[in-house]
Amino acid sequence: MHTTIKNLLDIETKINKRAKIIAVSKTFQIDKILPLVEHGHNDFGENKVQEAIDKWTELKKKSPKLNLHMIGKLQTNKVKFAVKLFDYIHSVDTEKLARKISDEGTKINKKIKIFIQVNIGNEAQKSGINKNELSNLISLCKSINLDLVGLMCIPPENEDPTNYFKEMDELNKSFALPELSMGMSGDYLKAVHNSSTFIRIGSSIFGNRF
Ligand SMILES: *Cc1c(COP(=O)(O)O)cnc(C)c1O
Repeated sequence: MHTTIKNLLDIETKINKRAKIIAVSKTFQIDKILPLVEHGHNDFGENKVQEAIDKWTELKKKSPKLNLHMIGKLQTNKVKFAVKLFDYIHSVDTEKLARKISDEGTKINKKIKIFIQVNIGNEAQKSGINKNELSNLISLCKSINLDLVGLMCIPPENEDPTNYFKEMDELNKSFALPELSMGMSGDYLKAVHNSSTFIRIGSSIFGNRF
């Protein structure tokens, strides 16, 4: 059995169907990804639009069941291409970006699912909207008819993420959102214990990135 499949099965056993696994394939070439696709795994994550176009355009035509998740910072000038290729965008954090996604979706009649990224640790260098501006952005997304499914976060590094995950869970519930995108290779079990529904796993499936 291919190691990536073995790794995926190990994680599936640990989380026992409580969340969906996004296999984060950024930086890995398609030959490393194909065994998982052939195994029947459908959710994959990328963080750069051009890399995703190069790797996934043909594959998605052949396998319509694939769900591609944009998990990285998205520039407004790339939104057009992102909306065309991806099924989910996890990194919406400004009104400008939300409006652009809505406009480009309308043009091609595609309703992409979105997450709002929250800067839960209030870190100066991190993407994501601040908690106190979240409610306004959610209202805006609803008013322009975006398919907002949940919140997403990347908690501060080198800290126990538990309290951040708990806070995200509370926020998500307070806005009655059905999905919650949190948890990576190092902390996905804690995320799942706090109601995450999409965990984003790179290195624990594909190995280290260089
Ligand atoms: C790279 C990345 C991941 C996966 O990270 P691992 O620690 O390799 O599992 C998850 N989420 C985001 C936003 C990422 O950029």
